[in-house]
Amino acid sequence: MKRKMDIENQLKRAIDKNQFSLVYQPKVNFQTNKMIGMEALLRWEHPEYGWVSPAEFIPIAEETGQIEAIGKWVLETACKQNKVWQQQGLGPLSVSVNVSVLQFQNGKFLKTVKTVLEESKLDAQFLELEITESIMQNIKESRDILTQFKKLGVKISIDDFGTGYSSLHILSKLPIDTIKIDKSFIDELDQLDRSPIIKAIIDLSLNLNLSIVAEGIETVNQLEFLQANGCMIGQGYLFSKPVKANEFEQLIRTNDVR
Ligand code: C2E
Ligand code: CA
Ligand code: CA
Ligand code: CA
Repeated sequence: MKRKMDIENQLKRAIDKNQFSLVYQPKVNFQTNKMIGMEALLRWEHPEYGWVSPAEFIPIAEETGQIEAIGKWVLETACKQNKVWQQQGLGPLSVSVNVSVLQFQNGKFLKTVKTVLEESKLDAQFLELEITESIMQNIKESRDILTQFKKLGVKISIDDFGTGYSSLHILSKLPIDTIKIDKSFIDELDQLDRSPIIKAIIDLSLNLNLSIVAEGIETVNQLEFLQANGCMIGQGYLFSKPVKANEFEQLIRTNDVR
């Protein structure tokens, strides 16, 4: 209880106190072995508790409405950073930003994305928004919102696919670009036999003309299974953990992504 209250209180000042940072994890094309983009992940260094996981503080930020300001900070930081790399001749890479469904359903978010793209001068095609499956709960509303983002030119990815509310029918009705197979399926691949589910998700996405990304790849076994079944893009500790911007820049340079 105390921890939750502290987090809630201190979250308010975390932006002003420069306690947030982003780390980046490469998205790799297995066929070419090159990086095609990166996911931006939020980090918070709390004065008392040290590094607090976004899995803990994002839900609190959603409850208190602070997600709006935090989400804007993440978007700005990620877009500006990607533009800086492009200006240095690195890439061009696509940056993926996690957006909570609450943030997405807030009418102001479209304007925020527009403004951030204008101010950072990042071309919209190099920004991808990752949203979880729960966006599918209200299909009519979601389709309208998603369509507006598509008009802006940004890409839309359905994160953690297979874990929540999902229906093939709905999937085909929404203007999305990518499905991300949830890490839990990849995790279990080596112990339980999750291959039928993963194969089904890959086939589904190929049939719907969506690109397919796997997350949480840690072993060569997992990588080889995905490759053999037609999933050619993924991320995970096998390639790299999420790292700070300066380290990521080294990764881009040594990987020769151009
Ligand atoms: P997610 O979007 O599903 O992100 C994937 C999580 O898996 C990240 O945890 C990442 O560090 C971790 N990961 C990546 N590859 C591997 C791997 O090979 N093995 C293992 N064990 N883990 C791996 P992280 O950074 O702690 O983020 C947790 C969740 O917090 C994210 O899940 C996302 O839902 C949320 N989150 C992170 N940043 C933001 C943000 O800026 N905004 C919002 N709304 N949510 C965020
Ligand atoms: Ca994600
Ligand atoms: Ca995910
Ligand atoms: Ca997740």
